[in-house]
Amino acid sequence: MVVGLHRKAYIKVDLDVIRQNIKYELTRMEKNQELFAVVKANAYGHGLVPVAKAAKQAGATGFCVAVIDEGVALREAGLTETILVLGVTPSEDAPYLAEYELSTAVGDLEYLQQVYPLLKQSGQKLRVHLALDTGMGRIGFRDQASLLEALNFLQEHTKQFEFEGIFTHFSTADAKDTTYYEQQLARFEELMEVVEKRPRYVHVANSAAAVWHKDCGGNVVRFGITMYGLNPSGTELVLPNEFQPALSFESELVAVKRLAPGDGVGYGKTYTAKEHEWLGTVPVGYADGWLRRMQGYHVLVGGELCEIVGRVCMDQFMVKLPHEFPLKTKVTLLSSEKDAPQSLQNAAAYADTITYEILCGLSERVPRYYQ
Ligand code: PLP
Repeated sequence: MVVGLHRKAYIKVDLDVIRQNIKYELTRMEKNQELFAVVKANAYGHGLVPVAKAAKQAGATGFCVAVIDEGVALREAGLTETILVLGVTPSEDAPYLAEYELSTAVGDLEYLQQVYPLLKQSGQKLRVHLALDTGMGRIGFRDQASLLEALNFLQEHTKQFEFEGIFTHFSTADAKDTTYYEQQLARFEELMEVVEKRPRYVHVANSAAAVWHKDCGGNVVRFGITMYGLNPSGTELVLPNEFQPALSFESELVAVKRLAPGDGVGYGKTYTAKEHEWLGTVPVGYADGWLRRMQGYHVLVGGELCEIVGRVCMDQFMVKLPHEFPLKTKVTLLSSEKDAPQSLQNAAAYADTITYEILCGLSERVPRYYQ
């Protein structure tokens, strides 16, 4: 991906805020618990390597990624901590995982059976975290019998496998209603009955469980969205004030014009000026992750809230201005202040989505600057 350095559109990430969020979470955790920073998807858009390094400085002792290449990028950046690939990986890539000492989630016996001959041939050992599907319905063992088969297989082949961890993932830990969360936890405990010797890492907590269900157990917290200062529940539950967002997205006006009544704006002419009005153009579009759905949303232009009019284009969008503004006036699309009108939460709510999706959609074309 080409990074747009010669354009006034940039994402600022305050790594110190990320460090503070981690440090605060560490004070809330039990003494025997470690924090793994979830840095998949380019660290939720914040930048994989800079965030991982900051997380390590703040006390993270491991990382979670989604695909092998993210783990390899962390190794190549010099990070030597445990790196867990949370998703299912192709069986033929097991030697590659082993080469980079990456741990992988395993959700069925077939995977272990398929990769065993490959690892035997290369004389490698793979670090395995067994995934338990307690109600997420995504990956993992669902009953004691199949889990036991996998445990036995691991035990029979200790030269090729290190049974390093076991985990589950909650689907409603961010909800007011705790019924399903409790069912999942009970299911986890039931499945764990057949695990005679617990591996080094037992982990169940994502941000929501860590924040609102501190007693959920395990010795690792997989800390994702709240490391970036955001509320996993949107607005359903209250996030402690200590957690602060770290990312902002800014640009500036590159064109300012006065429209006459009847003048159209944007593809499909979805906006027509009713009177003489001022219009500004911002050089950011859906190719940068600024969604087409943001038409009608308000961004901050020179300190004043201005509506996005007309359809958001691939690389530009237009805003209705209350008066003439000079060229190069600063435009704030996303603010790192959590209660600001341009907070990530407000943008996500407007786009009828969650902050995660807005963040992960921010394209690599937008340069990230760190402070
Ligand atoms: N654990 C697993 C298995 C995940 O898939 C994710 C994110 O999707 C996380 C932890 C981190 O979740 P959160 O960002 O809500 O903390």
